[in-house]
Amino acid sequence: EALADELRLDPAWIEAHGAAVLSGSEIPEGARPLAQAYAGHQFGNFNPQLGDGRALLLGELIDRRGRRVDLQLKGSGQTPFSRRGDGLAALDSALREYIVSEAMHGLGIPTTRSLAVVTTGQPVFRDRPAPGAVLTRVAASHLRVGTLEFSASRDDTDELRRLIAYTLRRHFPERVTADNPAQALLEAVAEAQGSLIARWMLVGFVHGVMNTDNVTLSGETIDYGPCAFMEAYDPRTVFSRIDQMGRYAYGNQPSIGAWNMARMAEALLPLLADDRKRAETMAHEAIDRFASVFNREYRQGMSAKIGLTAGDDPDEDPSDELIASLLEWMHGTKSDFTSTYRRLSASLVEGAPAFDDPGFAAWDARWREQLGDVDLEQVARDMDRRNPIYIPRNHKIEAALDAALQGDLSLTRRLVALVSRPFDAQADAEDYAAPAPPDFGPYQTHCNT
Ligand code: AMP
Ligand code: MG
Repeated sequence: EALADELRLDPAWIEAHGAAVLSGSEIPEGARPLAQAYAGHQFGNFNPQLGDGRALLLGELIDRRGRRVDLQLKGSGQTPFSRRGDGLAALDSALREYIVSEAMHGLGIPTTRSLAVVTTGQPVFRDRPAPGAVLTRVAASHLRVGTLEFSASRDDTDELRRLIAYTLRRHFPERVTADNPAQALLEAVAEAQGSLIARWMLVGFVHGVMNTDNVTLSGETIDYGPCAFMEAYDPRTVFSRIDQMGRYAYGNQPSIGAWNMARMAEALLPLLADDRKRAETMAHEAIDRFASVFNREYRQGMSAKIGLTAGDDPDEDPSDELIASLLEWMHGTKSDFTSTYRRLSASLVEGAPAFDDPGFAAWDARWREQLGDVDLEQVARDMDRRNPIYIPRNHKIEAALDAALQGDLSLTRRLVALVSRPFDAQADAEDYAAPAPPDFGPYQTHCNT
């Protein structure tokens, strides 16, 4: 409802036409729905012909802040790009995207939003038959690195030029007057993606399918298929059943982000400079830009998670070493990546170490020394603004989806309400703040939205 209001959708219109339009049964007046073509590197391999196989762009709206957004139906049926797919979505996977994308928004991380999930009344066949559903996705745009790769791989430099100009106008208007539009776009996207992936790392988000067709030019998180939040800290954490090699593991996300920026640079290479060597230098500069934005935001963010301020020089900064040794301890003890930081802030107020563990005691002493003579209650409050209490935990998502398939949406609503305000403690919600019980077992996800 809040998002509908931001989009200036009239409640009376939603009442009269919402279900029909948002299920794809009725086309709103003036709309010309379309499926977008794109290409992409999937698990490292280039596919020159992909596209919206299960989604339709309904149109664009201007929101209350004057921002232009795409309204897209996901699961609305086959398109010219469906290949052998049915173009449909199951209710559980649509609700999963709804929950996780709204959680990301609650965490303040750039993301596509979910306006609605509407059932279609027709079954879809996945691992188990499920009610069919359509998710309405709201995005700054659906332009992807793969959109540029589509034109580039067809050697259509004219189209590529127009695409660059359009993307700059839509997402980076401050750069439209740049002398070299291709370079300006490359740098802008590298910065946006460096920042985005740092934000993922800070909350333990594992995207799961960072193919270049799932990397937006706007810098929003998109494509909530096999994603999940890590519980026990381990850089090798992978959830996706198809990611056997761990290409998109938690700890690989920064280097995969840089790899994806290299693919974008490659697509733009002929437009960067006539001289090949010069173009390659510009490409490297942009990838360095990605890395430096990522490193800066990650270091600052991690420092803030433990109540410290990162210095400018990583080699001279004691908080880097403190963070590294905390993570090492968490890895060794399989500590929960979310609740551990809230335990740390609580321990500042309580005055005793957060964990009764010999390995932790030494770290705790160094941490308190580094914090120095400050108002610890204020530090704890600052930390609590950075460290969420509630993330969409895998066992809670599964419980909510199982109930939803039985027609009971109460757990889904409860979970969405909590993760939409992830930093604020709510009554009777302790179980939402704790990791899955051991009998939940290892968690696997799949892409089959
Ligand atoms: P993803 O890995 O989710 O980004 O999907 C990769 C591609 O497969 C996209 O182009 C989708 O449109 C397409 N796709 C996935 N599932 C289906 C489906 N059920 N029907 C048609 N196309 C699909
Ligand atoms: Mg995709």
